[in-house]
Amino acid sequence: MILELKNVSFTYHSKDNETKAVDKMSFGVEEGTFVGLVGPSGCGKTTLLNLLAGITEPGEGEILLHGKKLSKTDDKIALMPQRDQLFEWRTIEKNVCLGPEIQKRKDKSFRLYAKKLLEKYGLGEFATKHPSELSGGMRQRAALIRTLVTDPDVLLLDEPFSALDFQTRLNVADDVYEIIKQEKKTALLVSHDISECISLCDKIVVLSARPATVVAEIEVTLDKSLTPLRRRECADFSQYFEKVWKLLEDKK
Ligand code: ADP
Ligand code: MG
Repeated sequence: MILELKNVSFTYHSKDNETKAVDKMSFGVEEGTFVGLVGPSGCGKTTLLNLLAGITEPGEGEILLHGKKLSKTDDKIALMPQRDQLFEWRTIEKNVCLGPEIQKRKDKSFRLYAKKLLEKYGLGEFATKHPSELSGGMRQRAALIRTLVTDPDVLLLDEPFSALDFQTRLNVADDVYEIIKQEKKTALLVSHDISECISLCDKIVVLSARPATVVAEIEVTLDKSLTPLRRRECADFSQYFEKVWKLLEDKK
């Protein structure tokens, strides 16, 4: 188990308000797998990813990475935010190196690694271009490469395809999946698209309405040798779809 959550809770505190967003959440993630998180809008999914990314700390419970308590300085878990957040005034190359540059890393090997990743995944000739010169799919690939430059073990993807139109989304999802598999990463994907989760994931964790807690974990046993797109075409999603749908409806 690469990642383990044990009774994790989190509450937002403001001057005159408290909002519990995550409640006693427990589940595990096996190394090299793709795990989907689905739950009603506003239930606490982004909050959960922020906890896993070490941006915030749980009020209760613990998060274990490789069996050790996650620390704030751990960069073995990287978050790809909901919007691609590429800065127009930076070139693609400079955008993908933003993280380690802000951290003022002494070891500059990330620059070479970034170049390699851009080349490998078809963005080599766009390295000196600006984000507006790229298609939606290419921007998403650049955002993914930015998440990969620090060579994390776990990637957190927060509704990464929600800004793309349906057809583009299918292809970009395939693309992102291939890259994550090739780079041998473990991934957690938040999505409100059940079919997307079934096509990409080995396991789907269904969450309740806020505060989010685990309602069920559903193993997806489709042919892993197929790409997500081929799985959509060839496999029968209905049993998974109905299960997840019913759980979400029941917990509204
Ligand atoms: P999701 O990603 O599942 O849509 P979020 O994790 O963004 O949900 O939010 C969960 C709940 O926590 C929502 O009710 C939201 O309003 C609240 N929330 C999110 N961020 C903050 C914040 N910074 N301060 C207070 N409440 C917040
Ligand atoms: Mg969210």
